[in-house]
Amino acid sequence: MKLLQERIINEGKCLDGGILKVDSFINHQLDPQLMEAIGEEFARRFADCGATKILTVEASGIAPALMTGLKMGLPVLFAKKQKPSTMEGMLTTSVHSFTKWQAYSLCISSEFLKAGDRILFIDDFLAYGNAALGVIEIAEEIGAEIVGMGFLIEKEFQNGAKFLREKGMHVESLAIIESLDNHTIKFKE
Ligand code: 5GP
Repeated sequence: MKLLQERIINEGKCLDGGILKVDSFINHQLDPQLMEAIGEEFARRFADCGATKILTVEASGIAPALMTGLKMGLPVLFAKKQKPSTMEGMLTTSVHSFTKWQAYSLCISSEFLKAGDRILFIDDFLAYGNAALGVIEIAEEIGAEIVGMGFLIEKEFQNGAKFLREKGMHVESLAIIESLDNHTIKFKE
């Protein structure tokens, strides 16, 4: 997606360890118009997947997931990273965090995710696919089906998409980064 690539080139900052910082339009400040265009693009790419619900992870997945849900006319559910004391019938799994190098929990109430749901998962970044794997595990546990996985930015060199496709997932990434070597952003042609 050209619009997103341009923003990444103009505003993205490469940190050590293969991390890209995009705080000015995705991870801290948000650009509603860009998010709307992202929602439209996901809606186009996943038009035929038969999703019944959008699922994401707090916090940075919520904005693009909400826009995708708006464009597709679907409800949006976000997994929480901490167990809320008020949540009953909770589905949970542990995920290794790529940026923080520690594990965190994903928690979803079984009130909102049920057997037979057809899930379109949306998230900001795809690195190794750990968060996505956590979501797959929760869906399997409850008997829901993942019908698509969409990411704003895929870091191809960390092989998450390969890992998820080998699990039979339909993966779509709006901007695919081939390398961040020497603090330079190189997109896949
Ligand atoms: P994965 O679970 O695929 O290994 O990593 C994806 C998750 O880690 C995303 O939800 C995102 O929050 C975070 N993440 C991974 N790589 C980056 C990165 O380069 N920049 C930022 N801002 N977040 C990242």
